[in-house]
Amino acid sequence: MTTIHPAKITKVLPESIAAEIGFDAGDAIVTINGTPPRDLIDYQFLCADEVLELEVLDATGKTHHIEIEKDYDDDLGLEFETALFDGLIQCNNRCPFCFIDQQPPGKRSSLYFKDDDYRLSFLYGSYLTLTNLPEKEWQRIEQMRLSPLYVSVHATEPEVRIRLLKNNRAGQILQQLKWFQERRLQIHAQVVVCPGINDGKHLEQTLRDLTSFHTGEIPAVASIAVVPVGLTRFRPQEDELTPVTREKAQEVISQVKLLSQEFRQKFGSSVAWLADEWFLIAGEELPSEAEYEEYPQIDNGVGSIRLFVKQFTHAAQELLPPKVSPQRKLTWVVGNAVEKAFQPIVKQLNAVEGLEVNMRALYSDYWGQNISVTGLITGHDLLFHLKGQDLGEGILLPSVMLKHGELLFLDDMTVEEVARQLNTEIFPVAGVEDLINTCID
Ligand code: SF4
Repeated sequence: MTTIHPAKITKVLPESIAAEIGFDAGDAIVTINGTPPRDLIDYQFLCADEVLELEVLDATGKTHHIEIEKDYDDDLGLEFETALFDGLIQCNNRCPFCFIDQQPPGKRSSLYFKDDDYRLSFLYGSYLTLTNLPEKEWQRIEQMRLSPLYVSVHATEPEVRIRLLKNNRAGQILQQLKWFQERRLQIHAQVVVCPGINDGKHLEQTLRDLTSFHTGEIPAVASIAVVPVGLTRFRPQEDELTPVTREKAQEVISQVKLLSQEFRQKFGSSVAWLADEWFLIAGEELPSEAEYEEYPQIDNGVGSIRLFVKQFTHAAQELLPPKVSPQRKLTWVVGNAVEKAFQPIVKQLNAVEGLEVNMRALYSDYWGQNISVTGLITGHDLLFHLKGQDLGEGILLPSVMLKHGELLFLDDMTVEEVARQLNTEIFPVAGVEDLINTCID
């Protein structure tokens, strides 16, 4: 049985109900109307009431009982240390392509922690495999209508999925999808293609099986992302994996494009999309913007380049001034995979009088990759490529290089440490508006 810890508050939003009552960071909620919340999902559910009785522990360990009257949908205005108050549900698979196992040894232990938690999937869109859920968690998904979830399917043929996840429980995916379908719940699926294991006819079978659930008013499988396996130089030896070559990428692109065409005719949607990385590896043009429909798999690198360029063009019309004064010179760091695609952005920025933005498109020495997406560039890579160079007033750093909500790179270096060693300022930028505003501010 898991222990539920009091939900520790890290921030009380100004002018919120919680601020008015006098909550402080460091307080912790023990129960809401007599029930200890397991996670943010419980918290939101329990708070959707007009009268709340809270048991709260303050930072000195003293218990307080607080009654709150509010509108049903009023938010209290609290932020918490973690989304899960009873700990993460751990992964029980041993996928050979697991990124956690492809890290260097000797880092802090939390970097090696493998979660596979449906709650993070519901709250933040992280992918899970459904191989570790006891009956009571399935019931909770159904009762609380936790949908959509994001599921790593990889393959629908039981033996292929069992081989990929190294888990005998992995063969039940089609029955599980049926379970979602019967309850009118949805998933977004991803297929990480490992050449020689789940490509070719297995990939076709997987996409056909998955799209057979794309029917009805609420399709159980809402979308599918097809993603190339990512390998690093720290991967375990004899892991039976083969890197995706240019030829393999071209082959997968042709295969999935043909299938998507067929799906478009049948379902009025492509249903399955290729991650941008395939086109970068293959050296092929990205699909047109319209082909991504509503960008259902944007956080999985599907269409993110096209969307970024489009959003930039729109925002630039509104936000980019003809001139900045005093003059500014900045370095914009990205993965070399997007170097070509982002040239129009650099051109537009440099058209502003007094503004000079130099794009530095880097490969990752840290992970040992020749082509790197922006999200995998590490602090080590910045030092490796940029040390001793003229970086102007500072670095524009896409926040996708940092861990969610932290100023830490994937290799555990802090932004502060990298800025110190490069002897420059680092400006994390999240999205196009932030990029433009940081350039002109
Ligand atoms: S399910 Fe995810 S975390 Fe678990 S081994 Fe596979 S890739 Fe790693």
